[in-house]
Amino acid sequence: MIAALGLDRGPAAIVVVPAGPAAQARMQAGDVLLAIDSQPLPPETGTSDPFSAPQAHARADRIHDMLERAAARPFTLTVLRREATHTLNIDAPRGCRSQVFLARSDQRNAYADGRHVFLTTGLIARLRNDDELAFLIAHEMAHNILGHAAIMRSGAVRSGIGRTLGRSGKVIRETERAADRLGTQLMLDAGFDPLTGSQVLQRLGGADLGIALFQEHDPVATRVAAIRVLVEAHGGQARGAQDQDVPGRGGH
Ligand SMILES: [Zn+2]
Repeated sequence: MIAALGLDRGPAAIVVVPAGPAAQARMQAGDVLLAIDSQPLPPETGTSDPFSAPQAHARADRIHDMLERAAARPFTLTVLRREATHTLNIDAPRGCRSQVFLARSDQRNAYADGRHVFLTTGLIARLRNDDELAFLIAHEMAHNILGHAAIMRSGAVRSGIGRTLGRSGKVIRETERAADRLGTQLMLDAGFDPLTGSQVLQRLGGADLGIALFQEHDPVATRVAAIRVLVEAHGGQARGAQDQDVPGRGGH
């Protein structure tokens, strides 16, 4: 990653969505982030240093906290581009963003905790294309956007071990349906193909893959059929949208 993308100097933008807020601020793919409002980002550890997960997480959290604080109003971003520094003025509408992390684990898992989305390297290794990756990220992002982690922590589900299990199962099934619906919409908006992506459910058995606790899911065929209805209502042609400019959207 470092060699291919030149990430040895710090975190960088790998992709800039056409016409999105980053593009409007004239950010370019490959821009390395150096400072936010002139405040330098925490230094990168050397590649020869032993990897420390807690240190890496703390560093990533610090950068995200700095961005989050700055994003409450217009701010400047100092970037390194072809060995020259540039200052970008960022004044973007806030959307429903989610932080997506790759976790080094052989377990196959994807989950959302309300703020972050995690996918394991073991799961990524089983994916066949970007649509499948987008499907998993969109589904977990939807859980975060819809606030499902709070629902899961609430009494409705906590009491599910006892006699109200049936009701909890219903709550979980409904959150899964809602995450599939919003996830499909997020994928369509971003130009991915939800039906191609949903093949990951059939192949990996639909083992969620997320927040659900009791395997209370609709059968995979039912989920895919519901996604197909949404895609067809959208015009049936998800593929090809990737060739168009993606309009900047204020949030979903
Ligand atoms: Zn889910």
